[in-house]
Amino acid sequence: MLDLTPKGLSERGALRVNPCKTCQPVGAMYAALGVHRCMPHSHGSQGCGSYHRTFLSRHFKEPAVASTSSFTEGASVFGGGSNLKTGVKNVFDIYDPDIIAVHTTCLSETIGDDLNAYIQDMEIPEGKRVVHTNTPSYVGSHVNGFFNMMCGFIKYLSEKTGVPNGRAAVFPGFVNPGDMRELKRMLRAMGIPFTLFPDTSGVMDAPMTGSYAMYPRGGTTIPEIAALGDCLRTIALGVLTSEEPANTLERKCGVPYELLPLPVGIENTDRFLMTLSRLGKNEIPYELEEARGQLVDVILDAHFYLYGKKIAIFGDPDTALGLTSFALELGMVPKYVLTGTPGDAFTRLAEDLFSRYGAAGCVARASADLFELHQRIKNERVDIMLGSSYGKQIAKAEDIPFIRAGFPVLDRYAHSYFPIVGYAGAMRLLEKILSALMDRIDRDAADEDLEAVM
Ligand code: SF4
Repeated sequence: MLDLTPKGLSERGALRVNPCKTCQPVGAMYAALGVHRCMPHSHGSQGCGSYHRTFLSRHFKEPAVASTSSFTEGASVFGGGSNLKTGVKNVFDIYDPDIIAVHTTCLSETIGDDLNAYIQDMEIPEGKRVVHTNTPSYVGSHVNGFFNMMCGFIKYLSEKTGVPNGRAAVFPGFVNPGDMRELKRMLRAMGIPFTLFPDTSGVMDAPMTGSYAMYPRGGTTIPEIAALGDCLRTIALGVLTSEEPANTLERKCGVPYELLPLPVGIENTDRFLMTLSRLGKNEIPYELEEARGQLVDVILDAHFYLYGKKIAIFGDPDTALGLTSFALELGMVPKYVLTGTPGDAFTRLAEDLFSRYGAAGCVARASADLFELHQRIKNERVDIMLGSSYGKQIAKAEDIPFIRAGFPVLDRYAHSYFPIVGYAGAMRLLEKILSALMDRIDRDAADEDLEAVM
């Protein structure tokens, strides 16, 4: 498999092979699903909408509900205004959401549809809302789509009434519902009143109840998004994902923000909790201290299986940076750290981490693809790979232990119910990394060297 991947690296400005990202509307749709009783609406042709829904459904193993403007040749020539108007009316009439969140696609962006004007012109039923964002897929990645959709909600809905509500606005970054649950657990443990936005827990991990609910119980509500403007402060998690919406909220409503890395690993989780501690003037409770201590204990116990092991990390920028930070804490060498999302800031932040830990010879690449990762691995092997399902072929071709984390994970179940954030998430990652490395030792051991105790 992949035998023909050449070792020689070359600059490929206009070609990506096995990309490490997907298109903006996928992220916009995911953010919109994190709003209670929201129907994401894809303003483009049916194929785009189907692809985005399928992509999310394959990762979460849950239906990703969304509607589409269903462009045909006519809309491509005359603009999609009438499609959107009819689509919004039909969606409110038939599916009765509280809010429709429209995002654009390549086609509607290319023909220059003016969504602002269309939405101002349409009749929206009493008590219902329509918001939009622009998500041209030839810019950025699904991560940009995610934060652009957040900005869309904030621009339309968030208001400053002048009466502070004493809450923290917490932006979780592009993470799984399991991560959002863990973030909420830590916030509650710290005694911080908060609004998590968006919140896909209870939507993309909704339980089987025996009856289908188009709008499950989870999601940030419209009044909660409106009240973001009265929050004391925004805690924006994921430096490269959450700054834009935090900035939008600050510009619109004057809510100051604290920008933090995704709390993956020990130091990043410490920073998150210390920020909450300062904000709420609360001590960190024993349950969190205990979890941290347990994590450190296991790392110490198992350090000789981890130290110096080379790891390749790939995925969304903030996830990859968090995983890199944790790998360094484990004494591993993050030999290759890649994201498909463009942006020099990613490379800079990864290189800062390398130099802080004195990790020499590591390579960080933004706007990269997995073909390049394979080429680099062919030149210098790693001991383990950590990233999305798309690394699977490389892992098989090169016979390298492989752990799935981040987005998308299309070929495993239940992963999105578990966190990678917080001390609990770090413990889970640690167990997976250790098991993969130790399974390899067992597999390669001669019969006489196979140890029952390790
Ligand atoms: S045409 Fe654009 S928006 Fe549609 S699926 Fe392709 S990249 Fe995504």
